[in-house]
Amino acid sequence: MKKITILSGKGGVGKSSITASLGVILSKNYKITCVDCDVDASNLALVLGLKEKDFEKWEKLATNQKAEFDLSKCISCKKCFENCYFNAIEWKEDKPVLKEFGCEGCGVCELVCPSRAIKLTSVDNAKIGYGKTKYGFNVVSGQLGIGESGSGKVVFEVRKLAAEIGKDSEFILNDAAAGIGCPVIASVVANDYVIAVTEPTPSGFSDLKRALQMVTHFNINSGIIINKFDLNPDYTKKIEDFSKKNNLKILAKIPYDKSFLYALVNMVPIVVYNPKLEILFRNIAEEIKKEIF
Ligand code: SF4
Ligand code: SF4
Repeated sequence: MKKITILSGKGGVGKSSITASLGVILSKNYKITCVDCDVDASNLALVLGLKEKDFEKWEKLATNQKAEFDLSKCISCKKCFENCYFNAIEWKEDKPVLKEFGCEGCGVCELVCPSRAIKLTSVDNAKIGYGKTKYGFNVVSGQLGIGESGSGKVVFEVRKLAAEIGKDSEFILNDAAAGIGCPVIASVVANDYVIAVTEPTPSGFSDLKRALQMVTHFNINSGIIINKFDLNPDYTKKIEDFSKKNNLKILAKIPYDKSFLYALVNMVPIVVYNPKLEILFRNIAEEIKKEIF
């Protein structure tokens, strides 16, 4: 089983579209599982035509704890209110009230409460599940609740579920969140290869360098896909020079193509919406195989 993560320092560069199409192409010759590791804004299943209600199974997940107050013991000392760094407690009618959002489960209020009126309890703040796409492979996904923390833990659980559901898979494709934060690191660790998707803009290039710095830290081989490369030849050249200098393979340069947008609107991967692009994605798959086998 080869595990590949597709990431992008910057959001909106076409990462999920590329993951979905790569999945469709690889699935023609291999058993694969696609994993949506963007648990704050999951949309890989949608790109593959699968709505939440179409999933075979969802299960609740608790990745965080929250403060629970026993107001019968509270002596209104206000210490919890004054010491909550996250400003998650309101003061109402001389008693503390936990706000709907904001509690990070840090436990400070429990520590400072002189009358043991607070305890931390686990909360179901996320869900993970899987469903079969019409292309014959499963997509595993996770969703963190609004305002909840613990995205890295949810990614860890989503990947664990993918390893169970897709235990016979020859390829696991992880679609990471944008950026270089905790959920991205949780998507990248213990992989065989990383594909960094970028676009030729100053922010795209800057975020690409930061993302690859993180990947290098984990000693994972990586390659670059430049999406919409023809929109800015100067920055495409900068990215190519950077890749040469750092011995990173340019796996593909994808031209700007409006059909990427229409494919998203119609909830089909771009290689299905525009079969002319199939050869491009077949070449990407071949380049990746050369890199990891
Ligand atoms: S657990 Fe931490 S974040 Fe939550 S209310 Fe207590 S002090 Fe605030
Ligand atoms: S620290 Fe404890 S006793 Fe003091 S206001 Fe908060 S809950 Fe009440």
